[in-house]
Amino acid sequence: MLTIKDLHVRLEEEEKQILKGVDLEIEPGKVHAIMGPNGSGKSTLSYVLSGRDGYEVTAGSATLDGEDVLEMEPEERAAAGLFLAFQYPVEIPGVGNMTFLRTAVNSQRAARGEDEVSAADFLKLIREKAKALKIDADMLKRPVNVGFSGGEKKRNEILQMAVLEPKMCILDETDSGLDVDAMKLVSDGVNALRDAGRSFLVITHYQRLLDHIKPDVVHIMADGRIVQSGGPELALEVENNGYGDLLAESA
Ligand code: ADP
Ligand code: MG
Ligand code: MG
Repeated sequence: MLTIKDLHVRLEEEEKQILKGVDLEIEPGKVHAIMGPNGSGKSTLSYVLSGRDGYEVTAGSATLDGEDVLEMEPEERAAAGLFLAFQYPVEIPGVGNMTFLRTAVNSQRAARGEDEVSAADFLKLIREKAKALKIDADMLKRPVNVGFSGGEKKRNEILQMAVLEPKMCILDETDSGLDVDAMKLVSDGVNALRDAGRSFLVITHYQRLLDHIKPDVVHIMADGRIVQSGGPELALEVENNGYGDLLAESA
């Protein structure tokens, strides 16, 4: 599924190397988590995979089912089945949520050389997905994320994921702001979408999120590299002892 090899990334603006050789292999159907101290490069990894400007890949590769992700335009990444959810999703005043989602689905289909989804089929699809996620019709009509509460934004992010049916989902739950309810939303959403053909990379500061999601593999990132990988017990170790011991072991 997703294969990252020796990925080196620096900032374009300043001479600063952030990722210093990241290796990661995620198989179909697996949930991997990345934890690590603040500033270790976790968000940078997700930004580079999403194609955000400002980062330069100086070495290494990232492929999705053998296709070079780093060479793709952002919409090609979506068409290839990559989905990235960020903590603070953009607000798009004047564009209804439903219209936005339909545009996203159609641009994904166009990039795959498929026909547009009909209005009736889309309505049916979105009603079904929204119902499963307990999203009310009102939220579908409102402008994208405008005035949404933190919980509603999270719910919407999960809806976007459900509608686009990606094969590789990357969620970056950065820093503060994920309360218990939002954590439950995200973990229920991820668990509902878990499937033998779909993989997840969950980047998080919150060990407790991993209590609900139960990842197959946990990685610890420090100073631009993955310094340890293991099972869910690694997240517990972080919860109990912090990063100090783990980082000392790997140094
Ligand atoms: P994490 O998500 O693990 O907290 P980040 O990827 O956000 O780490 O940041 C890694 C390092 O890169 C930090 O030292 C951060 O300050 C720096 N960094 C990331 N993006 C930028 C940027 N656009 N400008 C300046 N420094 C940045
Ligand atoms: Mg950070
Ligand atoms: Mg971060």
